[in-house]
Amino acid sequence: MAAPALEVHQFPCLTDNYGYLVHDPATGCTASIDSPDADAILRELKARGWQLDYVLNTHHHADHAGGNRALKAATGCRVVAARADADRIAGADILVDDGDTFSIGSQQATVIATPGHTRAHICWWFAGSGAAFVGDTLFAMGCGRLFEGSAPQMWQSLRRLMALPDDTLVYCAHEYTLKNGQFAVTVEPGNTALAARLADVQAARAAGRPTVPTTIGLERATNPFVRADSEGIRVALGLAGAPDLDVFAETRRRKDRF
Ligand code: ZN
Ligand code: FE
Repeated sequence: MAAPALEVHQFPCLTDNYGYLVHDPATGCTASIDSPDADAILRELKARGWQLDYVLNTHHHADHAGGNRALKAATGCRVVAARADADRIAGADILVDDGDTFSIGSQQATVIATPGHTRAHICWWFAGSGAAFVGDTLFAMGCGRLFEGSAPQMWQSLRRLMALPDDTLVYCAHEYTLKNGQFAVTVEPGNTALAARLADVQAARAAGRPTVPTTIGLERATNPFVRADSEGIRVALGLAGAPDLDVFAETRRRKDRF
């Protein structure tokens, strides 16, 4: 018999972040993906009767690691973070590198280094449950802004995520989907899957429903930031025949001005 899958509890935090608690039913081991809002996370833990064992950080920004110290003080949890971010993630106890695995009870996560948004951003992939927590690297129909990394780094990071199985559930750290979709149709106006998705997203947001998680397959079909090989995008950007990286970089520049 297969082990029970990872339980994921998702809830809104701050203005447009999502908090995520992941729980291994076999052992009770529980982790918070990032710590956007310690009070909200403690409330959700209590409501479920879960004890927090770990925070798994994606990067150092305050809306991702700002609650680390308060969660440690309240629960005695340990903070797991990228070694390259050790000096700027508050309370980091356990340091990980690209390709490392870390277990939440019987659920194993693999660290995928995805520099670009920041220089040391990491994603957490639970292969056995088909779930990836991607922080501010990949968003539904979007990707993170390039604060510290370069376009080539981000392009490589997104390519690594796109290599995950199509049915992988992608848990992004923000509800940015509507704005991303409104931009996406400007760079790929002929993509009918994208147009249909934008209509779905508009309906979901009007009804107050989340549009996250998404899947790798849906992003491959509709997210312009991972579709640099699309002829429609190339034509819309005036970059027919250009390298994929140039198409991605121009898409990112246009989104910055959108
Ligand atoms: Zn960030
Ligand atoms: Fe963020």
